[in-house]
Amino acid sequence: MEVSVLPKPRRCSFCGSEFPIGTGIMYVKDDGTILWFCASKCRKSSIKLGRDSRKVRWTEYYGKEGKGKA
Ligand SMILES: [Zn+2]
Repeated sequence: MEVSVLPKPRRCSFCGSEFPIGTGIMYVKDDGTILWFCASKCRKSSIKLGRDSRKVRWTEYYGKEGKGKA
């Protein structure tokens, strides 16, 4: 059986969907925290608009009360 080492996909810091390494947008916060976003709309919603992903319907976190971490 062949073992292939595949890099784990990243998970979008905002919407929670997975995307392959090499895509997406990296964002470094002032405190050094690195965030990854699958698309510019997620970055915009999180950084510029400061939205809470649990209150945005198209995210995987919508309706969740902060329990469980990605
Ligand atoms: Zn996203």
